[in-house]
Amino acid sequence: MHPLPTHAIEMLNILRNAGFEAYAVGGCVRDALLGFEPTDVDITTSAPSDAILRLFPASVQTGGKFMTVTVINAGGKAEITPFRSDGGYSDSRRPDKVSLASGLYEDLSRRDFTINTLCFDGENIIDLLDGSSDLYAGIIRCVGEPRQRFGEDALRIMRAFRFSAELGFTIEQQTLDAALSLSPNLKNISVERIRDELTKALLSRSPERITPLLESNALVFLGIAPSPVPDKLGLLSCNPTARLSAFFYTCGRDAVESFKVPTRLKRDIQRVCAALDRLPEPDIIAIKREMSRFSAEVFAIAAEIAETILQKPYEYVKLCRDIVLSGEPYRISDLAVNGDDLKAAGIQENQIGSVLSALLDAVIESPQLNTVKDLNIIIGRLID
Ligand code: ATP
Ligand code: MG
Repeated sequence: MHPLPTHAIEMLNILRNAGFEAYAVGGCVRDALLGFEPTDVDITTSAPSDAILRLFPASVQTGGKFMTVTVINAGGKAEITPFRSDGGYSDSRRPDKVSLASGLYEDLSRRDFTINTLCFDGENIIDLLDGSSDLYAGIIRCVGEPRQRFGEDALRIMRAFRFSAELGFTIEQQTLDAALSLSPNLKNISVERIRDELTKALLSRSPERITPLLESNALVFLGIAPSPVPDKLGLLSCNPTARLSAFFYTCGRDAVESFKVPTRLKRDIQRVCAALDRLPEPDIIAIKREMSRFSAEVFAIAAEIAETILQKPYEYVKLCRDIVLSGEPYRISDLAVNGDDLKAAGIQENQIGSVLSALLDAVIESPQLNTVKDLNIIIGRLID
């Protein structure tokens, strides 16, 4: 087991020394048992919020009545939540009412999957709902009756597929059947939350595991086609531009809009898709032109997608790297002259852009012309 951060262990001790039950719970214990460093730490406790606030001076109530207190101490932060149970759900989104639970068992019963119910008291693992058998067998299984649990909160459907993709786990059959049959309820979930889960899945090691969800038409309402996620997506560089571009290019380009992707990322994705639409012959000059048009970074991502996902039989990635390493000019900023030089040479301001483009075009074809002397000869011809 990967150790939990010391600040989390200290918080458990403070709560216990004050006479309360306290456990690290959920994702942090799951990940620690799998040998990963836990990212965020959640603690569940018999202490009510006001006692938590009293025990930890640097704490703020972040979740309303009966809810989470975020505690910060020297080493880091954790979310501490009193044992809680969720009342009825009428909108497949959030509980109508949240109340204090009688104890740990009730708190764990409201959680989504058995692997997310494991607890650690600072010394021992506490496993009231048999999460460890599923964890070690690599199974995602709902706590309780799957149809009821997905009916309460449809985001759990996205979470099931996201954990499956991240951990490489299999979704247990009844859990899978219920998730797929209730997937139309995803319409009740905010696009941002769906986007966040889908992005985590696409940036995971086994993104293709979300294919059954797409094939059930679950995300058609967002413009995502009922198509398989490319099975080599997990081999692409693990950055949002590469993974999301490949995904949207193959599963539904128009969805970039409805997905509320941040503006810069959206622009990069659209440029990668445009570069993929007009992949040139694998020829140095043609590729330098594309790198000039889209930037080396964008074209390099398109090159990787072309080879890995679209299975183009050309070595675009290598050609791209060779060009950058060669130092041959492919950008306006690589030219031996700049706009100020052109102005000094008497070129009118409104013509500077087109002259620079013409110069770049010439040196992309013949890099040896990229000297002040040769460029001036070309300029002379251009303005004649
Ligand atoms: P990660 O932090 O890697 O996203 P996680 O399992 O820790 O995974 P969190 O959103 O941090 O996910 O939630 C912490 C815990 O709260 C979960 O492990 C689970 O026990 C519970 N939980 C979170 N979301 C839900 C939900 N929609 N329904 C039921 N329980 C949930
Ligand atoms: Mg977490």
